[in-house]
Amino acid sequence: MDLTDLTIKQVGQGLRDKNFSVLELTKAHLEKIKKEDKDINAFLTLCEDKALEKAKEIDKIIASKKKIPLLAGILAAVKDNILVKGTRATAGSKILKNYIAPYNATCIKKLEKQGVIILGKTNLDEFAMGASTENSAFGPTKNPKDLTRVPGGSSGGSAAAVAKNFCHFALGSDTGGSIRQPASFCGIVGLSPTYGAVSRYGLIALTSSLDQIGPITKTVEDCKIIFDIIKGRDEMDSTSVNDELLVDSDIETVKGLVIGIPKEYFIEGIDKGVLDLVKQAINKYEKLGAKIKEIHLPLTKYAVACYYIINPSEASTNLARYDGIKYGLSQSNKELLDVYLDSRGAGFGDEVKRRIIIGTFALSSGYYEAYYLRAQKVRQLIKKDFEKAFSEVDVIFTPTAPTPAFKLEEKTENPLEMYLADIFTAPVKLAGLPAISVPCGETNNLPVGLQIIGKSFKDDKIIKIARFLEK
Ligand code: GLN
Repeated sequence: MDLTDLTIKQVGQGLRDKNFSVLELTKAHLEKIKKEDKDINAFLTLCEDKALEKAKEIDKIIASKKKIPLLAGILAAVKDNILVKGTRATAGSKILKNYIAPYNATCIKKLEKQGVIILGKTNLDEFAMGASTENSAFGPTKNPKDLTRVPGGSSGGSAAAVAKNFCHFALGSDTGGSIRQPASFCGIVGLSPTYGAVSRYGLIALTSSLDQIGPITKTVEDCKIIFDIIKGRDEMDSTSVNDELLVDSDIETVKGLVIGIPKEYFIEGIDKGVLDLVKQAINKYEKLGAKIKEIHLPLTKYAVACYYIINPSEASTNLARYDGIKYGLSQSNKELLDVYLDSRGAGFGDEVKRRIIIGTFALSSGYYEAYYLRAQKVRQLIKKDFEKAFSEVDVIFTPTAPTPAFKLEEKTENPLEMYLADIFTAPVKLAGLPAISVPCGETNNLPVGLQIIGKSFKDDKIIKIARFLEK
């Protein structure tokens, strides 16, 4: 048996049957990472000693026949913008190159309590700004399906680690598509939960009104297991919602389910292979008895423009704290202002600087109304667009991304083209809704994802609906 080839479900069974120990499992994965990650660059930090120590501890618990924690021996990779106490957290930036997290993110606390072992921290676009993981200060991650291509972004390291069987699951963060688009590019499952479903405490902020942590997994079944652990109210994040809102759905069949297909997401310019596969997936649901209904989301065309005002604006304020004094890199020993300018000048990469400049402009006196405020109004209209659509349908199906994984460096010279990679994932976030990307086949040997969008807090329902495609 290849010990690195198991899902979360299978590990649980294997441990109960005593087919392997947690230590054997952990060693097998660490060896694989050490041998094969040279080509991929999924990990920025490996937590080898801690992981082995924890594995031995869990084996002892299992041997003593104490109650075995639910996720005993499950191995995780964590995006490097999520804090794991005592471990480096770079956010993919030179400015945090030596920053050690002083506390655990809430989701890490919850997972570790259930017996999850963290193998390491994964690569990302600097401060999660990007769609290809090429904006990392520590080199790009490569797509395990094709090393000449990007894994998507910004959670590219997490997605590649799962696709390559380096771990059982990974955590990512999704602001405009950063969990779903890499999941689609790497042929795995990624969930961007409803805003407020998962605590953001311990997530290095990009756009506070959009950021959510979510699972990246090999299967839909595993996605549910991880989501159920990390979801829920947290006193440390006032935007996290009460648990009563996050109830399970009782859906057992898709018979009679009304699936909305927005016209605006099936247009010219989308890769033909992607369109064909998504349509085939829709047909499968229809065969299972779902009703397909064409709907309209006319404001979709403004979503990317709106997102790229709101994202840089909030990012510019969130990143003000990296001043060369409080955190990480500190450059210059001249005047205070020089410390700020030199540290930020040397510490931030081009895309981060671009967004700080755009965001500062969009928030400045005289321009605030024309840009930030206006984008917020458009955001409300986009939200209403979805609300209207959801008065007629139960869920909405779209492609996750307009193309399969693109070539490394194909879009790095043209930020606008890179921004368009978010065209189907950003609108959902502006509306605060949950969405899951589930593999629906391959075109030219490259994976394609189907995006299933749900009503607010119907995360469990879209997971269960995605499961029908997996089956
Ligand atoms: N690609 C989008 C961006 O660059 C989304 C990033 C994200 O979700 N973190 O902002």
